[in-house]
Amino acid sequence: MNHFELATSGPAAGELACEDVPLSRIAEEVGTPVYVYSSATLERHFTVLRDALVDAGLKDPLIAFAVKANSNVAVLRTLARLGAGADVVSEGEIRRALAAGVPPERIVFSGVGKTEPEIAFAIETGVAEINLESEPELHLVNQVAQRLGRRVPVAIRVNPDVSAGGHAKISTGKAENKFGVSFSEAERLYANASNMAGVRPVGVACHIGSQITDLAPMEAAFAKMRGLVERIRAEGLHLERLDLGGGLGVPYFNQPEPPSPAAYAQMIARATQGLDVQFAFEPGRMIAANAGVLLARVTHVHERPEGRRFLVLDAAMNDLLRPAMYDAFHDIRPVKPRPGDTLAYDVVGPVCETGDTFTRDRMLAPLEAGDLVAFMTAGAYGAAMASEYNSRLLAPEVLVRGDRYAVVRPRPTYEDMLDRERMAPWL
Ligand SMILES: *Cc1c(COP(=O)(O)O)cnc(C)c1O
Repeated sequence: MNHFELATSGPAAGELACEDVPLSRIAEEVGTPVYVYSSATLERHFTVLRDALVDAGLKDPLIAFAVKANSNVAVLRTLARLGAGADVVSEGEIRRALAAGVPPERIVFSGVGKTEPEIAFAIETGVAEINLESEPELHLVNQVAQRLGRRVPVAIRVNPDVSAGGHAKISTGKAENKFGVSFSEAERLYANASNMAGVRPVGVACHIGSQITDLAPMEAAFAKMRGLVERIRAEGLHLERLDLGGGLGVPYFNQPEPPSPAAYAQMIARATQGLDVQFAFEPGRMIAANAGVLLARVTHVHERPEGRRFLVLDAAMNDLLRPAMYDAFHDIRPVKPRPGDTLAYDVVGPVCETGDTFTRDRMLAPLEAGDLVAFMTAGAYGAAMASEYNSRLLAPEVLVRGDRYAVVRPRPTYEDMLDRERMAPWL
């Protein structure tokens, strides 16, 4: 469920609005392309997930929002105020989480290639746990912590070797993927870590992929995780936390429907029944995707005499990379739907790449130059993955609450863009 609906009353009746703010107003006042987020949807998704987990019998789970899905500090603060933690993968993300007011004891530091300065920064920040992805990383964290005179809580990230996730580029839980260690390695590393002065193993973690719409592979992975917890405890080692990652899918255009948060929570309760651990989750997409749209304006409608009809927008692959990178499909909705039969459009941006094609042969209500369209379900892996490719300015971000909105990342100016660069002294 989300809060982007056609307004039923007021001067903008019949137009797409975010909560009580017509999208056309944001387009007029902030310009396009622009990302628009709904506070109510962010809050609803977080609360629905938490309630589902608690109702399924998981007491006091840590829900650490995956910052990489949407890194805007205002979005992070909206979630932090509800009690969300943060799953971070770089020093930059730790700094964002702190700036948003996420307490360090709710920050989980994941990622395959944490550098020494990043590890030191995380330890000094006092993060809840560092999720270790390999044996060399265990040794590095141990060394850095000892140098700082600390003993840092760590979890071992396991790669459960299951296939999940809608696309090969977002599947992380197969043995050939770079993430985590095998179950037998995890047991060995856990035991080794227990004897190290700089680390204190507190749990095990997994994250098997993203945009998962079938619970079966997750359940298989979580059942294996449960076995691992039991084996580690049977060796007399202390283990208090089980981090089951993120990955729950969302409904993209024409794609399989994801399971409900309730079904997800019940599956977890089933797979981990009787296990006395503190649960942690790292959802990104399921919290943020439906809470955002990318709003764009039609620059031209270019009809080729031989048949194709191109809808050329002022948004491009640098603003929303998912279609080019993951063959992703976003629903595209006109902001003020015009009457008339739908037509087939190839929806493209102005970037000089064939990959800058959002979709082909999409049936849409008739559109004209100047019309606004919204890419739905763009609140996750949208703005966070944007670049300035083709020297296009980063799209701004707007956060709506009720009948108010705030520009939470302004559009940079061309001076900002050029000011970041320097001439070489010999030029
Ligand atoms: C990306 C990522 C997540 C979030 O995945 P979603 O599919 O957005 O829920 C969680 N944990 C880790 C370690 C990740 O890399």
